[in-house]
Amino acid sequence: MKRCPLCSTELNRTLLEANLPAFSCPGCHGLWVSSNEYLSWLSPDFSYPISELDIAREFDTPYPVADNNQAIFCPDCGRFLRRFQIWPNHKFHLDRCGSCNGIWFDRNEWQTLQAQNLHKQINIFFTEAWQEKLRSKEMKQRFENMYLELFGFEDYEKIKSIRHWLTEHPNGNRLIAYLTDRDPYKG
Ligand SMILES: [Zn+2]
Ligand SMILES: [Zn+2]
Repeated sequence: MKRCPLCSTELNRTLLEANLPAFSCPGCHGLWVSSNEYLSWLSPDFSYPISELDIAREFDTPYPVADNNQAIFCPDCGRFLRRFQIWPNHKFHLDRCGSCNGIWFDRNEWQTLQAQNLHKQINIFFTEAWQEKLRSKEMKQRFENMYLELFGFEDYEKIKSIRHWLTEHPNGNRLIAYLTDRDPYKG
């Protein structure tokens, strides 16, 4: 018997997709999927390379997601579940067991991924490469916001286009030297 890591209710067997058995919680509507079931549902030769997952695409949350924010433990092996943010600038986390690789979906998390056709690429989210991509994307966003606030929209757009022109220009270094010289006409 398995119990819900969130509310301790006894989990029921369910079928998420044809050939994808899982356990669902009648209490909080979370879902538990074992790694083996997930991988065999994807089929042995099925794998999405990380390059096929576009981090710039929109991430929608069409259903209200009840993302938990607590320390929870694996219903299979009792180990601590690790929280993984999966998309930049979205408070959407999946919990995964570092030991058996089972995945816990809070209410509507699976449905949300499914609606966006991301439900077959879930294992990518747990890779160091994806987590790194996610962090650098968020960092970039923070700088964007900072510059926007510092310069205002119009000046920021202008300086960006000047910067682009300079960095692409074959004579860029000289143009920058001219620009930053206090008086380029003084010997
Ligand atoms: Zn529950
Ligand atoms: Zn486990």
